[in-house]
Amino acid sequence: MTTLYEHGTLAALMAGNFDGTITVSDLLKHGSMGIGTFTGLDGEVVILNNEVYQAVSSGQVNHIIDMDATMPFASVHFPAEQQDITLRNVNFAKLNNDFVKEHKLANVFAFLQLSGEFKHVKIRIAPKQEKPYPTLLDVAQHQPEFTAENISGTIIGYYAPDIFGTITAAGWHLHFISDDRQFAGHLLAFDAPKLTGSFEIFDNLEQHLPIHNKEFRASEVDMATLRDGIAISEGNAE
Ligand SMILES: [Zn+2]
Repeated sequence: MTTLYEHGTLAALMAGNFDGTITVSDLLKHGSMGIGTFTGLDGEVVILNNEVYQAVSSGQVNHIIDMDATMPFASVHFPAEQQDITLRNVNFAKLNNDFVKEHKLANVFAFLQLSGEFKHVKIRIAPKQEKPYPTLLDVAQHQPEFTAENISGTIIGYYAPDIFGTITAAGWHLHFISDDRQFAGHLLAFDAPKLTGSFEIFDNLEQHLPIHNKEFRASEVDMATLRDGIAISEGNAE
């Protein structure tokens, strides 16, 4: 069995529930690799081999050592049945189309990690919000974007099927971090001649909910606008 562990839901984030509801130390009990964000929607998180990195909206990347820091939304897993892959001339369009078809991902959750030299990387970083929190859609309209050329680094993240597209981002949700750990964020576009890494398909989804959080328990989800809002907030460029 291969398990993807998700804490919180994207629907709750869309509603503006940005308070952290799981500590880093608790999250790491469920996985050594993953992505997420911190309380207040503070930045973009990359978890690589138990090391937690946070890109904040100034562009700075922090190595998180405070295990009591909390996160409202995160996905993690322990590598179990990884397949090695090499991809040539790869960009988001290729991942969205060829890769998904070739590996028959449409109805499954999957993990992807790719490393190498990138010709071009475009990322964005969610800026920290203060209470009263806006909705994720409001935040999404004002997110700093950064680009880098000729940078070596790693893409890490997950694929989710369309039918789960309200609890998490449907399709690819990928973050990037450079090898020197100075450049990171939510991946919008990239272009690389050759990347190597691994991917893994999960047969089990563990969805953890912040049941002790009052805002989460009281929050109302607007199903009519949820998917469009998620597409704008979490979509990738291609
Ligand atoms: Zn992200």
